[in-house]
Amino acid sequence: MNPSESNPAPEPSPTVSAGTFDILNRRKFIGLGSSALLMAALTVPRAQAQNIEAVTAAQKGASANNPGPENGPLRDINPNSDLPPPTDHGEAPEFWNSFMTAKRRIQDGGWTRQVTVESFPISKDIAGVNMRLLPGAYRELHWHAAAEWAIMLAGKARITALDNDGKGYVKDVAKDDLWFFPPGIPHSIQGLESDANGCEFLLVFDDGAFSEGNTTLLTDWARHTPPEVLAKNWGVSEAALENVYKVPAEGLFIFQRAVPGPLEDDQHAISTGKGRSPVAFDFPLHSMAPTHENKSGQVRIIDSKNFPVTTMAAAHVVVKPGAMRELHWHQTANEWQYYIQGKGRMTVFFTGGLARTMDFAAGDIGYIPRAFGHYVENTGDTDLIFLEVFKEPHYKDLALSEWLTHLPPQIVIDHLGISAETLKAIPSTEVIVMPT
Ligand code: MN
Ligand code: MN
Repeated sequence: MNPSESNPAPEPSPTVSAGTFDILNRRKFIGLGSSALLMAALTVPRAQAQNIEAVTAAQKGASANNPGPENGPLRDINPNSDLPPPTDHGEAPEFWNSFMTAKRRIQDGGWTRQVTVESFPISKDIAGVNMRLLPGAYRELHWHAAAEWAIMLAGKARITALDNDGKGYVKDVAKDDLWFFPPGIPHSIQGLESDANGCEFLLVFDDGAFSEGNTTLLTDWARHTPPEVLAKNWGVSEAALENVYKVPAEGLFIFQRAVPGPLEDDQHAISTGKGRSPVAFDFPLHSMAPTHENKSGQVRIIDSKNFPVTTMAAAHVVVKPGAMRELHWHQTANEWQYYIQGKGRMTVFFTGGLARTMDFAAGDIGYIPRAFGHYVENTGDTDLIFLEVFKEPHYKDLALSEWLTHLPPQIVIDHLGISAETLKAIPSTEVIVMPT
């Protein structure tokens, strides 16, 4: 039984229709004095408090027993699903997923796994890929129709691209460096020697239906072009291209080769003709000071204002143990989250009384439909680090505290029944991470 069913609202008298009851009720209210009106208004929060109390009591007693089969490890990492906060209500859509339950495609040189709209239906406009490359291994030359936002999670790689003016780009990226490849821009990634024995990275695409299995690969396209056409296109002999037709039908995708030489050599090699691209496709995250910082954590916001090539905004959030990313919402964009480190819980309020709390750990993905309120609380004993990624160029959010402290105070007092002193204690600027 859901909490609202346990205390049903009083039924109208059976001798009058519901419509008549509404009219009579309204007239009765108009005739009441202010103290009676206040009492009537107070009835609503009191009834809700009883529901929360009843659920809390049930959770502590035999009602919460579970004698049937259980997947213990899964239960234990999802305490807020097993014993939800009594403030949760209704059947909210699933907004948790994880690379840890995605199939790994392992090839010579590394692996990839993805979470797309196929396995995460709420995430219609964003898909995620987690990939690993050993030193020298390639994610082969390719492009795709979706934009690619990326962060290096461990180790080092060399990335290449061709900009819209046909100028080449090559750069080495390390842990916490970002890159962004707009739609149709061809690129590659190759693992380098590092402490992580190559690299691991996260790719975020601005299309939930994106799949790593459906990108335009160099070898895939070349192998599916008649040899006489390919030879004519490049002005070379067919015999010189015989190896092109020995690759698998679906292309090479991930494959092992030797670790490349110094970056300077590669940068020199692409400087011929038009010269190197002036576009910065990469962004070193820790080159920027935190956008917001206090004793509870820090936030770095990276969007088209400081990373001009990107059409996807992002926030890199660090929340200290016991602290939380405050109650807020994003006015215009869905939020796709990736948890890098630590443990946390998030409640998403879906409107209409619908709310759900779920637990997140490293490797997990969260999703919040646009404009829905949420918070993220650190429930572990290490820093919680996560990413918020949006399919729009400018980062935007509003905090609940910010709203309530920029209203005529009486309006807030009338709604929440709090005192003027309590209202004064609420932070009047956006804090991002609480407590201050
Ligand atoms: Mn790509
Ligand atoms: Mn958010």
